[in-house]
Amino acid sequence: MDDIGIIAVGGYNEMGRNMTAVHVGGDIIIFDMGLRLDQVQIHEDVEIERMHSLDLIKIGAIPDDTVMKGVDGTVRAIVCTHGHLDHIGAISKLAHRYRAPIIATPYTIGLIKQLIKSERKFPAENELVEMNAGETKEVSKNLSIEFIRVQHSTLDCVFIAVHTPRGILLYANDFKMDRTPTLGEPPDIKRLKQIGKEGVFLMITESTNAAIVGKTPSERIAKDLLNDVLIGTEETESGVIVTTFASHIARIAATLEIAKKMDRIPVLMGRSMDKYVKLAAKMGYIQLPENLKIYGVRKNIDKAFTRIASEGKEKYLPIVTGHQGEPGAVLERISMDNTGYRIENGDKIIFSANVIPTPSTRANRYVLETKLKMRGARIYDGVHVSGHACKEDHWELLRMINPEHVIPAHGNIVMHGSYIEMAENTGYVLGDTIHLLRNGEELVLG
Ligand SMILES: [Zn+2]
Repeated sequence: MDDIGIIAVGGYNEMGRNMTAVHVGGDIIIFDMGLRLDQVQIHEDVEIERMHSLDLIKIGAIPDDTVMKGVDGTVRAIVCTHGHLDHIGAISKLAHRYRAPIIATPYTIGLIKQLIKSERKFPAENELVEMNAGETKEVSKNLSIEFIRVQHSTLDCVFIAVHTPRGILLYANDFKMDRTPTLGEPPDIKRLKQIGKEGVFLMITESTNAAIVGKTPSERIAKDLLNDVLIGTEETESGVIVTTFASHIARIAATLEIAKKMDRIPVLMGRSMDKYVKLAAKMGYIQLPENLKIYGVRKNIDKAFTRIASEGKEKYLPIVTGHQGEPGAVLERISMDNTGYRIENGDKIIFSANVIPTPSTRANRYVLETKLKMRGARIYDGVHVSGHACKEDHWELLRMINPEHVIPAHGNIVMHGSYIEMAENTGYVLGDTIHLLRNGEELVLG
């Protein structure tokens, strides 16, 4: 039987720029092609759309796929698990080098289309193939891929099961074991248990939150937290602003629901809010309230803020971009008093997001909060639950899937270390059945 090679292209030394390739016989499948945004943001005036992939590789913003030159075989498919930029953000820069279709769920394909459209340097002419969770597709004589529904922190997320002559390979990035999601269905546990029984020879899975003890709370808990903070105050006249991930459609839908209870008009502000939420509504994943306003362009955002300030902040609930302190995002401009919405003593800023644990985002966030506080804002931090599995979720998945081999991905070496420790407790042995890979390395399993 053919050996199976796993190439860790990106995302094994860091959070971001995920890309893994697997070759079986002469067939290659690529999982994800992501961006590492913080490596872009530390360089001022970087316009990704106009940059060459080799320059982006040099600054560590996209996976260094030059390692693929040494791999024998034909790429049969580029398959993406979900629409976060650390999984699809490099497609417009790298996919054109492979004559292979890009396969993903409908919402993810919608986002990929937008990325390809805004690209200025390379033409990605790959065929785009929509596939739903629960479906299977043959990509070569020996290989077929299957999508299995999971929950995470955006829409339409899946695991990819590759059926090979050697058994099943499960690419399990990113996920949480949420049995009570507020949007969409819970993970397809039944199918996961089944493939565990059918025989999985390798699982590649994220290690992002493997060090965090316990279980990641359901998105239902995040909705309760938000409700508690937004409804549970006697000071109902102040300005209130919510900031969260634009791609977190379930969280935004919850915020819109609560805005109705507060009797405030919801306003979505920021380029990415415009992009992700409008696409989700257009594709029928959510229904937007009739009084909702969405502003993506700076000029319109500023005009709307001026109107809100004159009509009375207490009538509105702005939901804005910028929770990581990204320069130029709406909340950062509010903190600089650049928008027409002047923060006054007692105005509330609700962070429905965690701080992405990289030094540059931590620094940006610190500066942002300090500026907001200097203007008198009250900060509500951590009104959030993670979209990533914690240690006990990993334990559960590992025992359910029971793979012969496991590789932690989507994290730095500390995160992988935590995952390895957990896996060792279930009986895996480092270097034998659990493997630590660094960017650029290949592991061959006989
Ligand atoms: Zn993700």
